[in-house]
Amino acid sequence: MKLRVLGCSGSESPTGRSPSFLVGDHVLLEAGSVASTLSLEDQAKIDHVLLSHAHLDHVKDLAFLAENVIHRRDRPVCIHGDAECLSQIRAHLFNDIIWPDFTKVPSEEDPVLKFQPLPNDGLLEIGDLKVETLAVEHPGGCLAFFLRSRNSTLVYSGDTGNTIALWEKARELSNLSGFIVETSFSNEMEELAEVSGHLTPRRLSSGLERLGPVDIPVYVVHIKNSEERKVVSELDALEDPRIRVLEAGTEIDF
Ligand SMILES: [Zn+2]
Ligand SMILES: [Zn+2]
Repeated sequence: MKLRVLGCSGSESPTGRSPSFLVGDHVLLEAGSVASTLSLEDQAKIDHVLLSHAHLDHVKDLAFLAENVIHRRDRPVCIHGDAECLSQIRAHLFNDIIWPDFTKVPSEEDPVLKFQPLPNDGLLEIGDLKVETLAVEHPGGCLAFFLRSRNSTLVYSGDTGNTIALWEKARELSNLSGFIVETSFSNEMEELAEVSGHLTPRRLSSGLERLGPVDIPVYVVHIKNSEERKVVSELDALEDPRIRVLEAGTEIDF
């Protein structure tokens, strides 16, 4: 299966867009930048959206995706997140104040969006893709996704503070093929990283120690725009050949 990076920045700017990844043709992982990066025809093919949490940079393009596909589909787009994430989006985004409630538009019987809570620690199967979740440390809660296709597993952790279970669960996998993980701030912003539930190169490095010497690519995402130069040079200084900074447009096979 292919994962195509639509956006993977930790900020929205002329040089970087918020996180969104297209998995195959029909599954979107995070809705940070899909509306402005994918053709309308391809947006209409999205049947499922997986959300890690309700922070704006991960959900904002749901608003425009809903509009863009409204007369292009004959069934709702299923939005998957944990129950808390979905209730936050319902209460604060699709609340008929900030944006129309697209779970009732154009009609309650035939809406554009449908919210579907992820099973607690369960498995979601979408065609050939199997999705498992793990709660990670981040203010308000956040999920990491273990994406399994055929015989390989790609781990995605969008926003996360130090979460020992993330690395230990990945370490147990015999078919781990790649790891997409955030590193938002530079080492000197350690305190901010701690309170905002994010990683620095130093924190990433201790996570990778827990993961062990498994030889897989580690794709870094969600670097804050103002931190980019420092984070990249601190990642280089780790001299870990597995680490690469992910860029929009990249495709990952897994
Ligand atoms: Zn967040
Ligand atoms: Zn974020």
